[in-house]
Amino acid sequence: MHCNYPLATQTTFQGQSIPDTTVHWFRLDALRLHDNPAFVDAVKTDGNFKAVFIIDPWFNANYNNGGPQVNVWRFLLEALHDLDSRLQKKPYCARLNVLYGQPTMILPELYKKWNVKKITFQASQVSSESMKHDGIIKILSEQQNVQAVSYFSHTLYDPANVIALNNGRVPLSYKEFRRLMPLMGKPASPIPEPHPMSLCMKAPPSELVPEPEGKIPKLQDLGLSDEFALYTNSWVGGETEALSRLSSFCSRRAAIPNEPVHWLMSKDTLSPYIKFGCLSVRQLFSQLLQFASTSSKGQELFELLTKNLLLREFAFLVGSSSPKFDVMEGNSLCIQLPWESNNVFIQAFRNGQTGYPWIDAIIRQIRQDGWAHFLARQSIAVFLTRGYLWISWVLGKEFFQEFMIDFELPVSSVCWMQSSCSGFFCTQIESYDPCLVGKQIDTDGHYIKTYVPELKDFPSEYVHQPWKCSSLHTEASWLCDREQYPKPIIDVCKQGELCCKRVQSIMKALADVYGVE
Ligand SMILES: Cc1cc2nc3c(=O)[nH]c(=O)nc-3n(C[C@H](O)[C@H](O)[C@H](O)COP(=O)(O)OP(=O)(O)OC[C@H]3O[C@@H](n4cnc5c(N)ncnc54)[C@H](O)[C@@H]3O)c2cc1C
Repeated sequence: MHCNYPLATQTTFQGQSIPDTTVHWFRLDALRLHDNPAFVDAVKTDGNFKAVFIIDPWFNANYNNGGPQVNVWRFLLEALHDLDSRLQKKPYCARLNVLYGQPTMILPELYKKWNVKKITFQASQVSSESMKHDGIIKILSEQQNVQAVSYFSHTLYDPANVIALNNGRVPLSYKEFRRLMPLMGKPASPIPEPHPMSLCMKAPPSELVPEPEGKIPKLQDLGLSDEFALYTNSWVGGETEALSRLSSFCSRRAAIPNEPVHWLMSKDTLSPYIKFGCLSVRQLFSQLLQFASTSSKGQELFELLTKNLLLREFAFLVGSSSPKFDVMEGNSLCIQLPWESNNVFIQAFRNGQTGYPWIDAIIRQIRQDGWAHFLARQSIAVFLTRGYLWISWVLGKEFFQEFMIDFELPVSSVCWMQSSCSGFFCTQIESYDPCLVGKQIDTDGHYIKTYVPELKDFPSEYVHQPWKCSSLHTEASWLCDREQYPKPIIDVCKQGELCCKRVQSIMKALADVYGVE
């Protein structure tokens, strides 16, 4: 039941009486109130309620090139502001306390300071290491007599249940995972936000909402300039925006013409909201299910997106149970290919200066917007790795980790391993010639011209291969544009042939390990 404020006090800290408190720890991938079982548990617990988000230095660590870039931070900070303003409203009348440091240090301090008796949070599913970290938090909490309760809510299914259905084994191929589907049944329905009358937390009157103990930083506080982020703000972070997008998502998505060129620059996507947990995948699934019954188009959309959500599910399942899943060394699911180390290639790739307009447009879209379509991601993944440059997929994954606002470690690792022929074998080893694929998808070059301004006035027939445009039939201004744009860093025919031979020799090894899917 909703109780009055102030509260019956039970202990003291630095001379002050403090009531029993339940903390809900909002984690990086659960920034929402809807379908959040851990949050519901916290607000249904009797006593004081506090909401916490911890900016863990880990979020910035393990990068060779300086951590997540401005768009990723912008999205996160917007999502935190949104969460804070949702919490301030009735019935919660709470604030989001944003603290900086390692959770294993911060939480024990809060336990003492706030007289915490219970903490709830979404269980981590990102990697086996992060799941171990959850275990440490639970032990630390118990040592201070704090009950720690976690829930799986970042995926459609609880991974432990799926593994149990597979006789205790993690399904190591998507085919094996799909075979379990009939046993797994339909995903659980999303849980609604709790009814105000069902809350047991003691909320203050709305005019007495306390100030948070730590405020949400600004981009400038993090040493980032917001100039670029504001310019490219196509995805506004937060649950409010996620739910508003979701409300018309199915009908808008079904109306997009079924041609890849329309998808390349679509901003109508949900992946960043899923990544930060601003949108629950169970909520999305239930919306798709409803829409499926409305028309054959609805059914088509349901089938396509369910397949994608299941691929994501598989990635989380394998990723969270396989140590070192995101690197090569020590990763039992990754074929150890002898990648080359060529700094000139790596820098040209990272900066969108390969001299192949289709590839450079994609890289620049990722740097600028923090997002690209699946076909675009796959094109550059093949180009960087087994198709042409023969550079390790781990460097590509790290590039995504810095710039993509929807970066999810298990999903990206599976996709990069698959695109580079390093794991999760698939028989469709296409060549992905950067000029041919570009022409097929972006025939008139509109996408290239948007992201590669050096070629914006170039004739469409040559925009995919500007070097082919001879000076005889080229106007002086176009030639000048071409001079601004780099020459191709490789000969695709020669390099493609060389890589193809290497790939053929490893295909057999892959088939032996994974079987043909
Ligand atoms: C090299 C490479 C790296 C990738 N890295 C990521 C990543 O870090 N994060 C990420 O969310 N997706 C990643 N993808 C998958 C895919 O490109 C994106 O999920 C998709 O483009 C997001 O757009 P959407 O929201 O319109 O997807 P939709 O088509 O609307 O799909 C709905 C959701 O399903 C999931 N999904 C879609 N496709 C896949 C897939 N192939 N595998 C697993 N899950 C999928 C995503 O969560 C997505 O939001 C990667 C693909 C490649 C080739």
